[in-house]
Amino acid sequence: MRQSEITELQNEPACEHNKKAKSGCVPATPGATAGGCCFDGAQITLLPITDVAHIVHGPIGCAGSSWDKRGSQSSGPSLYRLGFTTDLNEQDVIMGRGDKRLYHSIIKIAQKHQPVAVFVYNTCVPAMEGDDIAAVCRLAQEKVSMPVIAIDARGLLRQ
Ligand code: SF4
Repeated sequence: MRQSEITELQNEPACEHNKKAKSGCVPATPGATAGGCCFDGAQITLLPITDVAHIVHGPIGCAGSSWDKRGSQSSGPSLYRLGFTTDLNEQDVIMGRGDKRLYHSIIKIAQKHQPVAVFVYNTCVPAMEGDDIAAVCRLAQEKVSMPVIAIDARGLLRQ
């Protein structure tokens, strides 16, 4: 593609940034506040399933930056309004406790809230330390007798 064609594509007359340089807007980076990473995108897509427990496996910041930012309509169930996270910290990472924290979180949430299913979102930190969330979900599913679905949406993947 020629430079003149690229410049033409970047010309967005209705955009306030479209001044002299004719450059497009900067793409969102992972963790940006409005839909920046794959995990965020997965939640945007799946939070409308309102009778499921949505567990974010990762540091509190991942859940904190995504919780309750976008609405869902429900004819009754409101479980999706609760923000569940394994809240991984430095000690968990150093000691390799992510898998265990996730397993016990799934069991506790399933027993306490009786959802129809549990969705487990992977994030950057457990992905980097190598947590096998699919295996943990399979194990927990046998214990709680409901679907426990691993969503490999670690932010590293980008959208
Ligand atoms: S999944 Fe990764 S990029 Fe997304 S909010 Fe968490 S740490 Fe940030």
